[in-house]
Amino acid sequence: MEEADRNFRSLLMGLPSVDELLKSAEGRGWLSLYPRRYVLQAIRESLEALRREIRKGGQPPCDPASISAGIEALIKKYVAPSLSNVINATGVVLHTNLGRAPLSRAALEKVILIAKGYSNLEYDLAEGGRGKRHAHLRRLLTGITGAQDATVVNNNAAAVMLALSTLARGRQVIVSRGELVEIGGSFRIPDVMAQSGAVLMEVGTTNKTHLRDYERAIGPDTALILKVHQSNYRITGFTSEVPIEELVALGAKHRLPVMYDLGSGCLFDLRTHGIGAEPVVSEVVQTGVDLVTFSGDKLLGGPQAGIAAGKTEVIGRMNENPLARALRIDKMTLAALEATFFAYADPEKAACEIPVLRMLLEKPEAIRGRAERLVSAIKAAEDVSVAVAGDSSEAGGGSLPGVRLPTFAVSIRSARLTPNAIEEGLRTGTPPVIARIKEDALLLDARTIADDEVPAVAARLGELLA
Ligand SMILES: *Cc1c(COP(=O)(O)O)cnc(C)c1O
Repeated sequence: MEEADRNFRSLLMGLPSVDELLKSAEGRGWLSLYPRRYVLQAIRESLEALRREIRKGGQPPCDPASISAGIEALIKKYVAPSLSNVINATGVVLHTNLGRAPLSRAALEKVILIAKGYSNLEYDLAEGGRGKRHAHLRRLLTGITGAQDATVVNNNAAAVMLALSTLARGRQVIVSRGELVEIGGSFRIPDVMAQSGAVLMEVGTTNKTHLRDYERAIGPDTALILKVHQSNYRITGFTSEVPIEELVALGAKHRLPVMYDLGSGCLFDLRTHGIGAEPVVSEVVQTGVDLVTFSGDKLLGGPQAGIAAGKTEVIGRMNENPLARALRIDKMTLAALEATFFAYADPEKAACEIPVLRMLLEKPEAIRGRAERLVSAIKAAEDVSVAVAGDSSEAGGGSLPGVRLPTFAVSIRSARLTPNAIEEGLRTGTPPVIARIKEDALLLDARTIADDEVPAVAARLGELLA
């Protein structure tokens, strides 16, 4: 007892002071590299952790080298940026948690150009007076979608909110029960509806809604007929939904506007490449619908934004709504969006230049080639099996639900490490590599790994599996 107590005291007494650490060679080194407040914070927290451990009866390593190493690790943790690049080896092209669409080179260059100096963001150069920020994209957007007018806000949730607030505040909006979607937790049609001040009028059933259901619901308080794309799910079996054409005809008969929340909104015809059955936005606009809304960073492959395209009168009223100011996009987004839309003027160019399209359209053989290059670059121990395996990837991000894209992945099995352990090792390393587990193997889908990321992924795996 006595012995233990003495030992405990001598351990505590032996710890250096904050001041001693600051004045040590290491301390001076840290101060020359890192902000003083982080150095101080790391020293205090390291010493506190050691004292806690000693008081609990533990015997933490208290030699100067171990103490310095602990402090340095903490400082590095404090100064590391929170937002950082990761390598997406999940094969999910539009991974919402990983930032959805990577931008094209043209979009990045335009962001740098516009952000580094002044711009004509809200300045009419011809008139020499105040201009409008949404005017910059009007010509490109109407050209590509065929709509009379268009405007852009912060994201598609904002576009839906602004549309509902403008067209249906305090009045009823008719929506099918099969389309009351939730997109990733925070966007639920009924909640957005409530926030916008519109009143939800549900019609039909989960699996079947008929035109007569909509027609019966129309009354003096009806302001809008809304169709919502079933972005991230499919209702299969005994089902029916009403095509937008029929809703447009119904709206015309009752003099009601019709809106279609397309969610992803496709500008490039993926059907011509055998992918999915998504109509392009211009086809939807041609039905005569009053308004369509879609995201900038889903299949479009641009920055986070919400695009509303439709009749002149509707877009004009949306731009006048005071909410528009709160939901407006910033100049960097506008810059990236303009460059992204510009690429769509030539669809073949868009398919090569926009990373999302390039990844969706890449031929399985090309993906296999990248997977094979990754396999040859990995230096793993004898008891690790590393092989190329066929699998399927998905578009993700509430786009092309149910569409499986044939792909190739690097499949890893280790006798010593569980797939979960390898997954965690990759995820928490530098750079973080996000992979998935299928059955008893770790899979790295080569579809979403860029060519220039192959060496980094191989190096990380080498460290873990050697
Ligand atoms: C994704 C999606 C939204 C939300 O779009 P964000 O750009 O993520 O705000 C809204 N409606 C539908 C149908 C969607 O698929």
